[in-house]
Amino acid sequence: MKILVLNCGSSSLKYQLFDMNGEVVLAKGLVERIGIAGSRVKHSKGADSVARETDIPDHTAAIKIVLDLLTGPETGVLKNLDEITAVGHRIVHGGEKNDKSALVTDSVIKDIEDCISLAPLHNPANLMGIRAMQKALPGVPGVAVFDTAFHQTMPPKAFIYGIPYEYYEKDKVRRYAFHGTSHAFVSARAAEILGKSVESLRIITCHLGNGSSLAAVDCGKSVDCSLGMGTTPGILMGTRCGDVDASVILYLAEKEKDLGKVSDILHKQSGLLGVSGISSDLRDIEEAADKGNERAKLANEILYTTIRKYIAAYAAVMSGVDAIVFTAGIGENSDRTRKGAVEGLEFMGVKLDDSKNNGFRGKEAIISAADSKVKILVVPTNEELMIARDTRKLAG
Ligand code: AMP
Repeated sequence: MKILVLNCGSSSLKYQLFDMNGEVVLAKGLVERIGIAGSRVKHSKGADSVARETDIPDHTAAIKIVLDLLTGPETGVLKNLDEITAVGHRIVHGGEKNDKSALVTDSVIKDIEDCISLAPLHNPANLMGIRAMQKALPGVPGVAVFDTAFHQTMPPKAFIYGIPYEYYEKDKVRRYAFHGTSHAFVSARAAEILGKSVESLRIITCHLGNGSSLAAVDCGKSVDCSLGMGTTPGILMGTRCGDVDASVILYLAEKEKDLGKVSDILHKQSGLLGVSGISSDLRDIEEAADKGNERAKLANEILYTTIRKYIAAYAAVMSGVDAIVFTAGIGENSDRTRKGAVEGLEFMGVKLDDSKNNGFRGKEAIISAADSKVKILVVPTNEELMIARDTRKLAG
């Protein structure tokens, strides 16, 4: 059974083709600058890769190029397109209705459309991917895997904001949270590594990348998450601000007199970039901090402190914690962030083994000390595999 996984952004498209016998990636790639001058595609099959610049006016054209590459004489891994059993689509927002992955039907498409106001940058692009695929491979089932679905188990005390309740009832203003596919994948995998059932564990998953979130996963269910109705709250991110109080936003709105500009500041000019003034990329910040740059050091300190605060908070939410899991670009690779994030938490049974943490990157491991009550793990995330598994379940 072969499953194509698609992750469509407004001007990009990432894809992976899985052979579900053994869950092997047969080919993968990235189409960039769709509809913009300088469109290009990078495709790889095993160790071989090709990169091409070509005109790609829209997602339909991008998908045609991907399907041609998958069947091409040199780049291909399929004899013909009939071999694709189903297509899994990453969908950012499924709203309150979609608490699990779903076969793409007219009613699911309507749900995704209804959530456009909640995810104006992502859901329209996700829909373009679905429609282009329906045109290219009519009759091949599609499955929508929602970033918000895993968090639909959060109780009202975690998702209702302290504003007049009618904004929830009438406008659906609430915490939805994101990165659900990643939190679900790494929490389940961490339980496997620990040889326990996920239903028996209280896990805090730290998805630390360019966008970041922490989730409290109690017995396999998300009960809280640091992202909210939108993607700015929680910990300091690459360019997003993390938690700021309402007065800051009101002050910026009053000063700039332009809500678009305020949104741009909070989403694109804040976080590591805003504090350091150097970069949104943690590697640049760490390098500058090593050279003594004070604002880079401060950005690091804020990052560590905000993660640590959320870990302690989520332990309180679950009346304890059995495991802390680090994943995504920073969580998998930055040993100093992992150390900074758990430093000082020995009082709650969290003890890192420096010799296991230092220099460790990109693989699964338990990095807590042997006598640490709380296990600390690194688990590389694999959202595409999770999407492929859900697609197999629903379309198989
Ligand atoms: P992601 O969005 O998951 O791709 O993560 C991107 C973030 O991971 C960026 O801030 C990168 O700087 C960070 N990252 C990737 N590799 C490393 C590394 N070796 N050390 C520190 N940060 C890293």
